[in-house]
Amino acid sequence: MSKIAQPSQSDDLALTRLKGVGPKVAERLQKMGISNIQDLLFHLPLRYEDRTRIVPMGSLRLGETAVVQGKVLLTEVKFARRRMLMSRISDGTGSIGLRFFHFNGQQQQAMARGATLRCYGEVRTGKAMLELVHPEYQVVEAESVPEVQEHLTSIYPTTEGLHQLSLRNLMQQVIDMLHADQLTLDEFLPQGLQDKLGFTSLRDALLYVHRPPPDAPLDILAEAGHISQKRLAFEELLAHTLSLRKLRFRAQQHAAPILSGNGELVTAFKQGLPFELTNAQQRVVEEIETDLCKPSPMQRLVQGDVGSGKTVVAALAALRAVESGYQAALMAPTEILAEQHFQNFTQWLKPMGIDVAWLSGKLKAKVRRETLATMESGAARVIIGTHALFQEGVNFSGLGLIIVDEQHRFGVHQRMSLREKGANEGQYPHQLIMTATPIPRTLSMTVYADLDCSVIDELPPGRKPVETVVLPDNRRDEVVQRVEHVCRDGRQVYWVCTLIEESETLQCQAAEDAASLLAEALSEVRVGLVHGRMKSEQKEQMMQQFKAGEIDLLVATTVIEVGVDVPNASLMIIENAERLGLSQLHQLRGRVGRGDQASACVLMYQGSLTQNARERLGVMRESNDGFVIARKDLELRGPGEVLGTRQTGLLQLRIADLQRDEGLIPRVMQSADILLKSEPEKVDPLIHRWKGESIRYAEV
Ligand code: ADP
Ligand code: MG
Repeated sequence: MSKIAQPSQSDDLALTRLKGVGPKVAERLQKMGISNIQDLLFHLPLRYEDRTRIVPMGSLRLGETAVVQGKVLLTEVKFARRRMLMSRISDGTGSIGLRFFHFNGQQQQAMARGATLRCYGEVRTGKAMLELVHPEYQVVEAESVPEVQEHLTSIYPTTEGLHQLSLRNLMQQVIDMLHADQLTLDEFLPQGLQDKLGFTSLRDALLYVHRPPPDAPLDILAEAGHISQKRLAFEELLAHTLSLRKLRFRAQQHAAPILSGNGELVTAFKQGLPFELTNAQQRVVEEIETDLCKPSPMQRLVQGDVGSGKTVVAALAALRAVESGYQAALMAPTEILAEQHFQNFTQWLKPMGIDVAWLSGKLKAKVRRETLATMESGAARVIIGTHALFQEGVNFSGLGLIIVDEQHRFGVHQRMSLREKGANEGQYPHQLIMTATPIPRTLSMTVYADLDCSVIDELPPGRKPVETVVLPDNRRDEVVQRVEHVCRDGRQVYWVCTLIEESETLQCQAAEDAASLLAEALSEVRVGLVHGRMKSEQKEQMMQQFKAGEIDLLVATTVIEVGVDVPNASLMIIENAERLGLSQLHQLRGRVGRGDQASACVLMYQGSLTQNARERLGVMRESNDGFVIARKDLELRGPGEVLGTRQTGLLQLRIADLQRDEGLIPRVMQSADILLKSEPEKVDPLIHRWKGESIRYAEV
């Protein structure tokens, strides 16, 4: 390595300064988003191993990962079910077995009786004694003073063609440079804040995290609970927040049509509704209308529990657009839901003389052509559809507002590309995003930092919580009887068959079987069936019949999960409920309890429940509150899964964890404000440090 006299700015330094980095390695590093020395410094360990001391064999604990050293007592090739090399080594305090399934003659020789081996691996139970399966091993001199690592060993995320050891070797060089103060790193966190939070300098935090001292608390490190890790997590969350703020800022620079309307349609619509808006709906509608009157695009997220009445709010926003001479488009994640919106909107808006169009991926060519023509000519004022809306060949005529329902089903990119589609002569449509997975405020500030948030925190009056029971599958007969009772009383029932295998075909099969069994058992009950493999006309027809009360019992797969609204349905049975996540169960259950009668949900499970499943079903039994359920779901599954943001690339955090580090978030928000206001020049480098290339991706 060439000698560096002056400290160098780490983000300027080429990787080729390091020993062992030629074009090939550089290319592989690039694949992991590492293009300079700073990037390496921010390539943080996944976990740590303790190779700082040799553990006496007599005190090894099961499950522990440890270094041991001892003399070989015996090495032999055994043929059990497979051929394997077995060794037994002892260090005087005890002995331990080694087991290898892949080995060669050379290894067998090296491990001959009398040799001294140093091994590293996880301690497991073997047949006769504790053993290490495929440990890392090294033949050493019998009397050699055990030369072990001075520090905990960091294990890094790596990529194909780049070995852990080579990467660690590069990391060593960079950390040595940092240690010797040959590198400078920009500090982006205000000193005052660092003092207040007890943070060390960035340099010291990085040194600690890459090279924890031997006495470092492994358990705390494993949970990223050390102050040095917190220091880095804080900075990462700050970078994340700033990147979303910038996204939002950039979007706000665009022009948008002013949708102030004259109130005619909106007023008429409200008067025609059979109910009054709740206070929460009223408030959110006002927030939206204020945004729509601005000359920059609204980017508002409406969070509202299932059944809180988001559709009416969406319709009011759409009418503002129409009143102002613009189109509105509503995108829903599934055909069934989109269709239902289409029917609702048609029913509401047709009488007012407004044309509503329907676009799905499954339209026949001719119908599709005609629909596209009405959209393009502007004859259609409100367009409802699935993701088919942002496909090639779809053109709008003055799209003023995009509404995305159940946004957790869409990625940020899909939203963005719909926005681009609607862009017209430098004007961008407003965006209203709706979600039924309400999450705690601190979390939503981070995850949705690019959006303004409104919350519908009130259910329409008269709703009774859905009484929920959890039953084993062997009490099915009782459940079937209960279905019969409810149907006899003129109420309707959903019977949901959930994924048994990871296969839609099998799921549909299960639903078909359940439907025929139920039809047989309940001769007086009219049974219908919907699943994902039916033609969309068939599905639509079935849903219509169920809505119209011509079917009493609807057997369905989880296709009915989101949004379906049939207020007369008062009982839901969910089979294999133990396999579903909480948010999904809550969504499903939200299909009942929409009318004014008391409703119930039966969660059936098979076999015995795991601790986690028991806990989940318990939460469902005890709570009807989407916020409570979402929080529990976050705890059990983590934000990536719950919010479906894993794929979007926006939530790929290196060290921070939205849940674990939630306590940092208020301060992160403050710091973001301060930086943007008083030190804006730091913002881009900070984002770049943590998000590197991925930020470009997020900007589509
Ligand atoms: P979600 O928020 O889950 O999308 P929906 O918009 O489907 O909820 O509304 C659920 C049901 O509540 C619908 O039948 C709707 O007509 C009804 N609803 C909406 N707002 C009110 C209100 N203010 N008062 C009474 N019922 C309402
Ligand atoms: Mg809805």
